[in-house]
Formats: sequence, C-alpha cells, structure tokens
Amino acid sequence: MGEDAVVIGAGIAGLSAAMAVSGFFRNVTLVERDATEPSDDPRAGVPQGRHPHVLTSGALRALEELFPGLSQALTEAGALPLSAGWDIRQEVPGVGALPQRRIPCPTFAATRPVLERVLSQSLKAQTNVTIRRGVAALGISTAPDGSRATGVRVEDEDGEVKDIKADLVVDASGRIGLIARALEAIGRPMPRGEAIGIGIGYTTGVFRIPSDAEPDFGILVTWADPPHNGRSGYLVKIADNVWQVLMVGRGGDQPPADIDSFYDFARTLATSSISDALKKACPPQKLTRFRFPESTRWRFGAGSAPAGLLPIGDSLCRFNPIYGQGMAVAAQEAVLLRELLQSCASRATDGLSWLADEFPSRCDALVEAPWMTSAVPDFAYPVTTGARPQDFDERIRAQGELLQNAFHDEAAHRTLLGVQNLLPRGFLALA
Ligand SMILES: Cc1cc2nc3c(=O)[nH]c(=O)nc-3n(C[C@H](O)[C@H](O)[C@H](O)COP(=O)(O)OP(=O)(O)OC[C@H]3O[C@@H](n4cnc5c(N)ncnc54)[C@H](O)[C@@H]3O)c2cc1C
Repeated sequence: MGEDAVVIGAGIAGLSAAMAVSGFFRNVTLVERDATEPSDDPRAGVPQGRHPHVLTSGALRALEELFPGLSQALTEAGALPLSAGWDIRQEVPGVGALPQRRIPCPTFAATRPVLERVLSQSLKAQTNVTIRRGVAALGISTAPDGSRATGVRVEDEDGEVKDIKADLVVDASGRIGLIARALEAIGRPMPRGEAIGIGIGYTTGVFRIPSDAEPDFGILVTWADPPHNGRSGYLVKIADNVWQVLMVGRGGDQPPADIDSFYDFARTLATSSISDALKKACPPQKLTRFRFPESTRWRFGAGSAPAGLLPIGDSLCRFNPIYGQGMAVAAQEAVLLRELLQSCASRATDGLSWLADEFPSRCDALVEAPWMTSAVPDFAYPVTTGARPQDFDERIRAQGELLQNAFHDEAAHRTLLGVQNLLPRGFLALA
C-alpha cells in the first residue's frame, strides 16, 4: 500500500491497528507518549488501566485474529481463563444470579496492563514495526491542498521536534483532538458528533481475599437497579487471592474514595455478594477514582477525512465503560482495517482515498449495535442526557425480556451472552 504508516498511541486500539497494517507497509511506526515500557503496572497515559477491564469473548476473538497465540500468551502471563456462562456471575436486582451454564464463550480475567504488555510483546516480533515510546504526536501533517495526510509531527522526551512522513496515519490516541485540529487546518468540517451524558464514577481497590473466603467464580457483576438506583459493583479475580473490587455510581451519587465509605457503598448494592466476599478481605492502601462524564461518538462519513488519515478505537467512539465494550470494538475495527487494506491493495486507483471514506463509515456501522446496547439501559436513568432513541420503549422492553428469559431458557442466555460479548449474531446459538 505504501512505504510508511504511523500509528498514534499504543493502547489497545493502537497496538491492534499497528498489527493490522503491518502486512501492508514497509515500515510501521507506533508512537506512544508514555516513555515507560509496558509492565504489569498501570501507566500515566491510560489512567483507566487502574480499573477492571473485562475482556469480553468478542474482544478475545478479534485480538486472537490479529495476534495469533494470544490465549496461550495470556495464560503464560498468569491471566485466568474463564467461560462467561460459568465463571462470570451476573446478579440482576430482584431476580437473582443468572444460572451457571456451560456455554462456549471463552475469555480471560486479566488487568489492562497485563493485556497491553502481552500484545506489545507480540507486536515487537513484527520486524517492520518500530514502537517509539516517550514520543508524543503534536499534529497530523497534510499536503498543501489538504487532500491527503503526509505524516505526523512528534516531540520526543528531550523536547526534540521532528516530522515522520507517512502514507497512512492511524489516530489511536483515544481522543478526537489531533484529527479535529488537522481537519480545521485544511478547512474541512468536523464530522457529526453525538454525546450521552451519563456521569459515571468509578472507585477501585485491589483487595486480598484469603483462600478460605475466595468466591468460586472469576468475575461477579452486581447490576444496578434503574431508574433510581445507579449503583453497581464488580469483583474481578486477577491472581490467586487478589481481586479488583469496583464500585460504580451515577450523577450525584458517586462512589466514595475512603475505605470505610467504600464498604458502606458495597453494602447498599442490590445483593450482598460483594460485601460478603469482602468480610475477610485485606483492604488496599489506596482506592483509585475515575470520572466518565459522557459516552461520545463521531460519525465520519465519505469525504470527512483526507486520504491516508483514519481514526480508530476511542478516537472514534468512547463507550460507557461499565458494559465492557471498548476493547472489543477497537480490536474489531482493527480486523476490519486489515480486511479493507486487503481489498484496497488490489485496487488500481488511489486505495488510500477509498479507505479514508470506507473505513470510518464501516466503523460507524460496526459501532451502532454496541452503542445502542449501552445507550438504551443508560437512558433508563433520569440523570442521563442526550438524544433518546425514538424506539426507546420497545428496545428497553426487549432488553428486559431477554434478561428475564435468560434465567429459564438456555437459548435466551446464549443470545444475551452473544450480545454482551460482542460476538457475531447467532454465534452461540444452540445447534
Ligand atoms: C474506567 C474505564 C474502564 C474501562 N473498562 C473496560 C472494560 O472493562 N472492557 C473494555 O473492553 N473496555 C473498557 N474500557 C474502554 C477501553 O479502555 C478502551 O475503549 C479501549 O482500550 C480502546 O482504547 P484506545 O486504545 O482507543 O485508547 P486509550 O486506551 O486511551 O489509549 C490511547 C493511547 O494513546 C496515547 N496517546 C494519547 N495522546 C497521544 C499523543 N498525542 N501522542 C502519542 N500517544 C498518545 C496514550 O498514552 C494511550 O497509550 C474502559 C474505559 C474506561 C475509561
């Protein structure tokens, strides 16, 4: 497709995108603002890495397509293999825990830093990919007529500013800012944006739970009880006896930052499972908070971006994190990018212009179902702001029915897991 590609940001989207484009360009440079090498500890550029990152089965599937051998590498890194229908306990207010069923929906419990470290190691094996850490993208350069991206202006740790030339620039910085400035500089309008104000607050602590008190599942989710109680909780096993515990609130009801109030908050969840599991636990020195005010989405269409410039991952769409969709969508977009590059490579005319139109519009279609899956329950809360889907009543009823049916009907349970795990429609259907 060309000589050089640059990917901005070494988060899940950037690592996946670098892998996806590595088969089509002679040199791929991945620039990451954080100087630190990936380790099992969270890093500054990804503050959300201190909070549980549930790897859905759909995320694992897409990442495994890009990084063959990923499951093996995760196992070697100490990630805990899980089967979503058996090892992930979902508790629904007023109804109880979904029954355990052996449904083939595999995944892993791993922290976000561990996942990133494993993906980075695998990417490093690509001899044409260079990962430059401690290098921040300052801006995206374009041709004088604005028709195409020509590279990225970067600043390294010593403050030296350089231009890296590129035929393709993939923006995986997690924000729209760099693209917005590039579009403004060439006089193109911003694509239409959409935001849903959700006012989500996270507080997470890492607890030690002795073996005789450890729950016998890998992940527990106690769902909130809309429309008036937006509190939910997560318990995620990250190593033997080590659990990430997350409390979530909404709007004016934010989870606290001190440990006594954290325990009190846990006791107010719809079930007592999490507070029971914490009875014998050794609490952490420190709790970490995160505010997520709104889900955002940019609807790029044909002609929105110049040739050779593509947004991916959170730069395109940031989902309410409680539904665990972001990594799956980022990885699925990277798989799509690889597929489009394959068809693009065989085109006689300017493939990169075609790609700049095709990729974001196809991503918009890919994002639609997960966006709706989280927007609908979010709109059940009166504090949520934004444009409610016109068929909201019908959708919320259908989602509620699916959840209820999943308790007594395995086929419905499979459908529910398929939706929650962003698997292709019918993927888990009974034969
Ligand atoms: C609190 C929270 C919890 C979440 N939990 C889940 C979950 O359970 N499951 C799930 O699937 N998803 C979850 N997500 C979403 C998930 O983190 C992202 O959707 C997914 O990782 C894709 O993000 P990304 O790679 O596009 O962006 P990011 O993860 O934000 O990565 C962007 C990268 O770009 C770098 N960068 C930024 N600017 C520059 C620049 N100018 N130059 C160079 N580098 C730059 C940053 O340092 C960073 O490394 C959660 C998100 C949040 C906020």
